[in-house]
Amino acid sequence: MSKYKDKKPSMIEFTRKYANNDQACEDFFFRAKYPNGYYCEKCGCTHYRKISTRNHVYTCSKCGHQSCLFAGTIFQDCKLGLYKLLLGLFIFFTSNKGVSAMEMRSQLDVNYKTALLLCRKCRVLMTECNSEKILDNMFYEADVAYIGSRSKEPGHQGCGTEQQPFFIALSTSRNNNYPQFIKLRAVPKDDRETTNAFLTQSLVLSKDRTLNTEGKTTFNIMKDRITVVNEKIDYSKD
Ligand SMILES: [Zn+2]
Repeated sequence: MSKYKDKKPSMIEFTRKYANNDQACEDFFFRAKYPNGYYCEKCGCTHYRKISTRNHVYTCSKCGHQSCLFAGTIFQDCKLGLYKLLLGLFIFFTSNKGVSAMEMRSQLDVNYKTALLLCRKCRVLMTECNSEKILDNMFYEADVAYIGSRSKEPGHQGCGTEQQPFFIALSTSRNNNYPQFIKLRAVPKDDRETTNAFLTQSLVLSKDRTLNTEGKTTFNIMKDRITVVNEKIDYSKD
């Protein structure tokens, strides 16, 4: 059993915090959109005011540019209310076994098409962060995978081998034992320098954050910059 399992937030906690609380839901999405606080994409100003007649719209105090909470995000055209959307995300990302559209439909009391769309968006979200965006969480996992056959030439390593190493970094939350975001990168070799470069470019590092390496000692090169632990996490167990 994963030691993080017991810290998974319960449905009780979730509903206590967000049900019938549009402001708490909005705050959640606001923080997700602006993790470092609001900024105007037109002028860079960090102050805004809200228009009371329009929900979830922020107006830049300096230039008046208006931005909607979900504008430019995957939920731009989402018709679900904030609570149902957040609940759908909660159900999807706290499930260890994946969530079907049928299940999502009955849990959220929405039609099948809406549920299917939300499940698809959740899956996109899980992989979307394999982009230029740096992962920022308190808990990460990293591993190296190899794709392709082993080189037939003994002792031949690096670019010339037929095995292609991939670095994998996952970002998870201590409250959620299922990985949320992923970064993958094919690299010529999995030496210390490449490891360092990949993790520096992929993760926000600090000593109060934890990197689990599944026992791979290559990642110990990061020990000065993040807390490295070497434990296996089994997601298949409940
Ligand atoms: Zn502005």
